[in-house]
Amino acid sequence: MALHPIHGTCPYCQHPFNETPSRSFLGFQKISCPACNENLTYPLSSGFRTTYRVLVIVMILILLVNLLQGRIGFPGIIGIAMCYALFHDWKLRKELNFD
Ligand SMILES: [Zn+2]
Repeated sequence: MALHPIHGTCPYCQHPFNETPSRSFLGFQKISCPACNENLTYPLSSGFRTTYRVLVIVMILILLVNLLQGRIGFPGIIGIAMCYALFHDWKLRKELNFD
């Protein structure tokens, strides 16, 4: 999954840029502003978002099946990290008015 350049404006110094992001932990797109070097975090690329959504749904189904059998499941660190990533992604897209 290659990352595409992001055309945006730095919220710190208002400098417009067209930079190719690097990928951070959990798949967020990271850019450092070419003018002020401030680190900007952009939402997940769509491949990561789709993967997380599918995995979270599968995880919820597994937890439900466990519950129906009288066992209490626990999503685990990876499950929690994916939920966090989706939530953080949703917040970023809301803030940035990303599509
Ligand atoms: Zn800047």
